[in-house]
Amino acid sequence: MKIVILLGAPGSGKGTVAGRLASENEGLKHVSSGDLLRGAVAKGTAAGVEAKGYMDKGNLVPDALIAQMIKDVVAETTGDVTMLLDGFPRNLAQAKILEEMGAPVKSAVLIDVPDSIIQDRIAGRRTCPKCKAGYHVRNLPPKVEGICDACGEKLVIRKDDNPETVKDRLVVYHRETEPLIAFYRDKGLLKSVDGTIGVENVAAAFLKAM
Ligand code: AMP
Repeated sequence: MKIVILLGAPGSGKGTVAGRLASENEGLKHVSSGDLLRGAVAKGTAAGVEAKGYMDKGNLVPDALIAQMIKDVVAETTGDVTMLLDGFPRNLAQAKILEEMGAPVKSAVLIDVPDSIIQDRIAGRRTCPKCKAGYHVRNLPPKVEGICDACGEKLVIRKDDNPETVKDRLVVYHRETEPLIAFYRDKGLLKSVDGTIGVENVAAAFLKAM
């Protein structure tokens, strides 16, 4: 098992790109820390109850809480698989925890999108609560308005996708997560793709870069 880390701001398209690549390429597995956490919140587990307050405010959940979930997924992923790790690590402490897990990181790919575009992207974002597919009302609309192409479920707006929380999430991104770009660059693992060229093109560029 190898790991490819997806770096990028909220709304940069990490989940969309990783989801698409995993569905089209056998041997790629998409693991989203946000989806793991939302799953725990929906199930009402102890971790989910603890995480909810942080998530609703756009803050990061405690490192140990999300690290344990990632450890469990890493432990159960064996064989010739490349894990597309989306949303973890989110700060330097988590990057060190990932190193301590001993899971080999092949590369860290930054999906680069300026903040000015992010706000609009998140405002139009719609998500399938069942299969986690992502859409945008204008840039990536479903075939039938409000309905997931993949599984027919009714699409929702994520609770933390409101403009106020998005502002806070961007502040947290620049403060906590952006230092990871230099961290992985120093290790010779950083690649970067332009995240503004359309989903198909970003996915193709990502696959080449990783
Ligand atoms: P995402 O779906 O990646 O945008 O994550 C949604 C929310 O889940 C974030 O705003 C955080 O509250 C929480 N979260 C996701 N991944 C992490 C992480 N690695 N560390 C801390 N909090 C996280």
